[in-house]
Amino acid sequence: MNLSRKVEDIEISGIRKFYNKVVKVENSISLTLGEPDFKIPKEVKAAMKQAIDEDKTTYTSNEGIFELRKEISNYLSNMDIKFLPEEICLTVGGSEGLLDTFTAVLNPGDKVLIPSIAYPAYESCVKVVGGDVINYSLKDDLSIDFESLRESIKKHKPKAIVISYPSNPTGRVLTKKECEELHNALMDEELLIISDEMYSSIVFEEYHTISKYEDLKDRLILIGGFSKMFSMTGIRVGYVCAEKWLLQNIVKVHQYNVSCAPSIGQYGALGGLKNSMYHIEHIQKDLKERRDYVYSRLLAMGLEAKKPEGAFYIFPSIKRTGMTSEEFCEKLLNETKVAVVPGTAFGPGGEGYVRISYCYDREKLKEALNLMEEFLYNL
Ligand code: PLP
Repeated sequence: MNLSRKVEDIEISGIRKFYNKVVKVENSISLTLGEPDFKIPKEVKAAMKQAIDEDKTTYTSNEGIFELRKEISNYLSNMDIKFLPEEICLTVGGSEGLLDTFTAVLNPGDKVLIPSIAYPAYESCVKVVGGDVINYSLKDDLSIDFESLRESIKKHKPKAIVISYPSNPTGRVLTKKECEELHNALMDEELLIISDEMYSSIVFEEYHTISKYEDLKDRLILIGGFSKMFSMTGIRVGYVCAEKWLLQNIVKVHQYNVSCAPSIGQYGALGGLKNSMYHIEHIQKDLKERRDYVYSRLLAMGLEAKKPEGAFYIFPSIKRTGMTSEEFCEKLLNETKVAVVPGTAFGPGGEGYVRISYCYDREKLKEALNLMEEFLYNL
């Protein structure tokens, strides 16, 4: 029997693929996961327990509880992003928000511009709903190559573009200048802007976002969530923000997909936004220290890397070893039991790079980096 060709054509994520190899290696040290190692804040836990005790376990409205949408609206306004509570829909993590969005806006054959190094879900979501992926290039410093972006827009006339900062896997955040240049490149183009800002709460320098521009707002869709913000990846609460004409289509898909985000998780996120904002300061400070440590160790090993400005990943170049990303990661795993993810798991531009997640405890990072240093020395 033929199953969906569109689904058969997409591959399981390269991160998972590599992770499946890693779990077979006993006592490996894995720096592969995109999961915060912080505990969920106690206020978020308390709010979820209270919601259970008060029997708030029924469906919520499709869009989610209004009070939470109001708090998200306030939270975003601190970053100059203006969405009304009515323009926000709670989802089952950002993941559901992404698939709902692509389903709601694309027709078969529509083209979507995606960075050549990006979170793998974009490509799969676009393909599963019958869209075509066009990659736009990044430069060696992992910033957008604006010349090639402008050319791609002119040549392919895409329906939408995905912007993803802070970036998983590169850790890059838009500088003020890049943000302005991106705005200039997009302002006169007739295309939807899908901005995935899942890591907006983990930024070490200034935060500049394309979502703040009022003149783009009527065609901008912002995806966010609480997985990384409150270290609650398993609770599954994210959100999508867009003006009514877009959001109503997204909510339709969301409604038939899941009805609503988990009620208990929504109350947890509400508790977090009201009472756990200290957690964000804490994780930013802590991750910044780990970033500095990992960055300086990689440079000392002779690897080139752009210093990450957000999220908890670093994306060093391994080109000088002469190996492909896959070869490097396999050899590193086999010889040292240290696991990092091949850059190619993130798209065609990722060849020659590896992704290291540094959201692991310092001892583990030190041990892994010592082994990696020795490995490079012996090559
Ligand atoms: N967007 C990016 C860039 C991510 O890295 C992730 C998860 O790692 C997601 C979206 C989805 O997050 P979640 O579904 O856990 O909210």
